[in-house]
Amino acid sequence: METKFCEFCGNKIATDAVLCPKCGKQLEELKTDSSNSNPQVIINNNNTINGAYGRKQCDKWVALLLCIFLGVLGGHKFYEGKTGMGVLYLFTLGLFGIGVIVDFIVILFKPNPYYV
Ligand SMILES: [Zn+2]
Repeated sequence: METKFCEFCGNKIATDAVLCPKCGKQLEELKTDSSNSNPQVIINNNNTINGAYGRKQCDKWVALLLCIFLGVLGGHKFYEGKTGMGVLYLFTLGLFGIGVIVDFIVILFKPNPYYV
């Protein structure tokens, strides 16, 4: 154990001692470990939790299946929240089938999930 001498009374004390056990005087500044005393502030930006703020997240495969089975009724359009287009598809049988085929290809090449 390493020792040093108290600068006030000359007592032999341990080097890491902050207070002299004999005279009770403070020998060293109390060291505060700044890396531990400062709690890390972590700012979570929850705006990006859904990837796209304020947009509807759609599952590619759900939309694709809806397009196949309910495409002529605008099923995938209603799923995407595009009610107007859904109604249009409903009355035109998916823009006479052309809209459904186009949408099927478009959805097929979309990432999963995708945002509308
Ligand atoms: Zn001392």
